[in-house]
Amino acid sequence: MMTDLRSLYEEVILDHNRNPRNFQHAPPAANHVAHGYNPLCGDELSVSLRLENGIVTDIGFDGAGCAIATASASLMTESIKGKTVEEAKALFESVHEMLTQQGSAGDLGKLQVLVGVREYPARVKCATLAWHTLQAALRKEQGTVSTE
Ligand code: ZN
Repeated sequence: MMTDLRSLYEEVILDHNRNPRNFQHAPPAANHVAHGYNPLCGDELSVSLRLENGIVTDIGFDGAGCAIATASASLMTESIKGKTVEEAKALFESVHEMLTQQGSAGDLGKLQVLVGVREYPARVKCATLAWHTLQAALRKEQGTVSTE
């Protein structure tokens, strides 16, 4: 990985881990909630969101995870707020592809720093946990999703 991207990756992960956005934020009148669990690392989080006319108007997460899981959840909530369900699903696909299939990080904006996680294959599931949990919340599945 290029040095610039690596230092950007570390900077963004550290920043979002230290000061996670939308953390312990329960949207008033949240109507979609899901819990996610990554047994490989022990990351556990829940995502709750308010869906109104097909748009995610508010979103927050809670739980306990490693730096990558927390930072990824923080970045996820930041980028999903204001998106339609279709846009959110497309973003999930792109992030998932980038992390698991060497997909391009091309137009992911801020999220492209997550590509740095590919250097640590054991941590990929930490990074995808929040996104799987988001998917479950959008599908309104009850219960817990696991990355395994
Ligand atoms: Zn983790």
